[in-house]
Amino acid sequence: MSATSLPPSGWTPYMSDPVLYNTLTRKKEPLSDQSVGIYVCGVTPYDTTHLGHAFTYTAFDVLIRYLRFLGRDVTDIDDDILLRARSREMHWKELGDREYAKFMADMQHLNNLPPECEPRATEHIPEIIRLIDGLLAKGCAYASDGNVYFDVKNYPNFGKLCGLSYVAQLEVANERGNFPADPLKRDPLDFVLWQAKKDGEPSWPSRWAEGRPGWHIECSAMSMKYLGESFAIHGGGGDLVFPHHEAEIAQSECLTGKPFVRHWMHTGMLYCGEHKMSKSLGNMVFLADLLPVCPPDAIRLYLLGHHYREPWNHDRRELAAARTLARKFSHTLNGGGEEASDEEIGRCGSGVLAALADDLETPKAIEELRRLANSAEPEARRVGRTLGKRVLGLTFDTSGM
Ligand code: ZN
Repeated sequence: MSATSLPPSGWTPYMSDPVLYNTLTRKKEPLSDQSVGIYVCGVTPYDTTHLGHAFTYTAFDVLIRYLRFLGRDVTDIDDDILLRARSREMHWKELGDREYAKFMADMQHLNNLPPECEPRATEHIPEIIRLIDGLLAKGCAYASDGNVYFDVKNYPNFGKLCGLSYVAQLEVANERGNFPADPLKRDPLDFVLWQAKKDGEPSWPSRWAEGRPGWHIECSAMSMKYLGESFAIHGGGGDLVFPHHEAEIAQSECLTGKPFVRHWMHTGMLYCGEHKMSKSLGNMVFLADLLPVCPPDAIRLYLLGHHYREPWNHDRRELAAARTLARKFSHTLNGGGEEASDEEIGRCGSGVLAALADDLETPKAIEELRRLANSAEPEARRVGRTLGKRVLGLTFDTSGM
């Protein structure tokens, strides 16, 4: 469709339900909810914001902007990832607060909207303890010498999200912090709901032992508290599918008997050369290093130039191309003036909106934006500016470039 052609008759971007890929069903499914609760988990608890984090949060930022543009009522909750940072050298709360402030500043620079609510697990200990009590009462969990574990073998659907065999599940869990030889467990895959106190860690009293909650139960408690026992979208990085999100499903559904989440969305991993960007490999590109030399629009266009589910490689040439594109957009689409009307968006913006309606195809949406920016028609450029700002979160401000 050319940028200025009419949309197909009878089709309006406001009426149709977007389709989103669901990790649970392994297919694209329409999102029909008018009220959409979204809970996004942090990627890695310990790192300063790197491009991989920025990729996940920017993808969900565009999803939220787009759904609000469609008139959906979105409630978004971000798991307060960095408060989970624990350190023996520094008081955990001080470290958490400091890292969290840095993370929020990075997200703000990138023009990602702040979530409506960022619950802190440390402020939800009574809720978490109630869930663990509920799981014990239902026989889905067992207490063992001050710890409480989820009883994986007692939950036949364990593995429905990841689709892995028991052996493969154990392998992945062990790579991601599972301790299979824990003598207090009945099964090596059982995961901790309550962990008795270890030196240097924050702890709270409980009837099992002074201790702290396991990571998985924190997210179930907070998401269900703010979004209800069943909600629309739960997401995070692809490395959270197993065991984190699998565990969340198991413990939440054991407890409520209801489907926990309708759409599971996961972002692809960001690689640097052969390897995933990670702290242990020391190959991270930090947002704080890029922001002073790269305008936020360039970083957004660089990130959104990759579909959210795609694993991809960091490439400086691509970042430079995104910078050139950001400069071009700031010349052709910037300027004050009116927002485009609904009629104008209906006439010129259907390409951008159709791309996003198809599982948030941001690379296609950017191509459509480029067509609008190249148009000689002021109306097309006005639509480009409006959708670029409202849906893709661009500012068109490249001062200092
Ligand atoms: Zn989580």
